[in-house]
Amino acid sequence: MNKLIQIIILSLLQAVATSSTAHEAHVHGSATVLLAQDGNRLTLEFDSPLDNLLGFEHAPRTDKQKQAARALLDIMQKPDTLLKLNAEADCQLTTVKVVAPVLQAAAATASKDEHANLHAEYEYSCTKAAALKSLHLSLFDAFPAIHKVDAQMAGARGQVAATLTPKQRTLTW
Ligand SMILES: [Zn+2]
Repeated sequence: MNKLIQIIILSLLQAVATSSTAHEAHVHGSATVLLAQDGNRLTLEFDSPLDNLLGFEHAPRTDKQKQAARALLDIMQKPDTLLKLNAEADCQLTTVKVVAPVLQAAAATASKDEHANLHAEYEYSCTKAAALKSLHLSLFDAFPAIHKVDAQMAGARGQVAATLTPKQRTLTW
């Protein structure tokens, strides 16, 4: 195939993938978790509409909203209570990145968009990476507005995907 055509097709595919991910990412009641294992390193990405986590998606206005936003950003820094990897793998959290522009930007830069997301990325280093086999979501307790989580794991043994719910909280691979 002509190289230029290849490039065009690739960028088209990428555009489609990007827009469909962005689209799927914002359904109230739903969230996504993506896990990727590379040797002893594990990356976990969590995406959710802010509505699921706070009940609103605008910059916080009242004191109560500001407090709730701070508490949310705080709990997202310590994911251990929300997302539990099986203990046998002995994974230590090494990096945390939480992005929620609506909550983190200065109040003046209010978003024109009616919807807003929170994106969090966690990196773990696992001493016994071969023993890594499950992720349990306790976040259903912390965020009752989340009814389902599309979870995916990609590792050396392939890929698994499942829709997790308050009744089925564990992804195993
Ligand atoms: Zn929304």
